[in-house]
Amino acid sequence: MSAKMKVEFYRHPIGEDEILSVSEVLRGIFLTTGHKVAEFESAFAQYLNAPHVVGLSSCTAALKLAFRCLNIGKGDEIITTPLTFVATANAILESGAAPVFVDVEDDTGLIDVEKIEKAITARTKAIVPVHLYGQMCDMRALYRLKEKYGVALIEDAAHCIEGMRDGVRPGQLSDAACFSFYATKNITSGEGGAIALSRDEWLSLLQKLRNHGMTQDASLRYSKSNSHWDMEVLGGKYNMNNIQAALLIPQLRKIEKYLHEREKCVLYYRQHLKNIPGLTLLEEIPGAKNAFHLFPVFVDRKLRDKVLFGLRDVGIGVTVNYNPVHLTKYYRSHLGYQEGSFPCAEAMGFSTLSLPLHVHLTQDEQDYVVDSLKLLLQGAVV
Ligand SMILES: *Cc1c(COP(=O)(O)O)cnc(C)c1O
Repeated sequence: MSAKMKVEFYRHPIGEDEILSVSEVLRGIFLTTGHKVAEFESAFAQYLNAPHVVGLSSCTAALKLAFRCLNIGKGDEIITTPLTFVATANAILESGAAPVFVDVEDDTGLIDVEKIEKAITARTKAIVPVHLYGQMCDMRALYRLKEKYGVALIEDAAHCIEGMRDGVRPGQLSDAACFSFYATKNITSGEGGAIALSRDEWLSLLQKLRNHGMTQDASLRYSKSNSHWDMEVLGGKYNMNNIQAALLIPQLRKIEKYLHEREKCVLYYRQHLKNIPGLTLLEEIPGAKNAFHLFPVFVDRKLRDKVLFGLRDVGIGVTVNYNPVHLTKYYRSHLGYQEGSFPCAEAMGFSTLSLPLHVHLTQDEQDYVVDSLKLLLQGAVV
């Protein structure tokens, strides 16, 4: 087959509104953390219906700072899923704690809450559920574990700004929820992140931790010329800047519209990809609001790479979300994991590929993806 069309895996939704918004910042004097970041934080908190939001440089930073707030370090354990982007587990390792993986449900790919309980030890400090592909984990069940064992709950909500399950949204039943505005996420500033908090005492701590523990951020230093700043805690450099915030503010206003566009694409895929031999779709959680971040499909793991590279050969952007973290070279060699440790995560991770999904995707492009996928599957089976 030859490439008849180029279908991008992702195209960002940035348009004139965002360009204007950024231009306004660029014409002003203040590029780093200032009034635009504050405006984004309050708009995002309002959207999430969360008490507080702190704008950061990435979701990885949000996870790391959440662990800092919890005083997590050497000797501690944090439970998470192996079916995620490496950032989730890497942030745990960087904090000095040990990641303890728990297998996923074989139909949704979400961490299996029943198995978590068996993995909790006296060293367990936190559970980090990942709302994979845009579907939320069962936060009510996780909250019961949090209460029963006194562990913290930090959500990796990089895929799930818009989701809701059993009336619960990210950031509402946890200590903190971490968000990403990386280049391919549902709203994006190229790089960027945020943390939503329910704990009041973490707000000023996080505002310091994101910027070297300084008592005054740049906008305060600019406006208060008659006082010195001090450094009270050891922080890092994880602040969101006004340029990123200006890019995000107009996108946030349109986030439900974007979601609706992606939902239409998902319905179209689901309608045209059902009952195809050798192809399985993700199980939808009934009654939950899906943030539709990714559209994974599953094929026989022996055929996965053939289908994946075959689609790329005909001009279609596809990715793997995710080869299981515990089987990457580093985790195998440093933590001693091997195949067979988490059978459900491995079965899904080695059989999955994600199809293009974004607000600019056209029906013609989707038809081409569907037809190419069917052809490759037919060719691969015989
Ligand atoms: C993108 C992503 C992250 C990391 O986000 P950054 O903003 O790039 O740090 C973490 N977890 C998951 C599940 C992701 O998809």
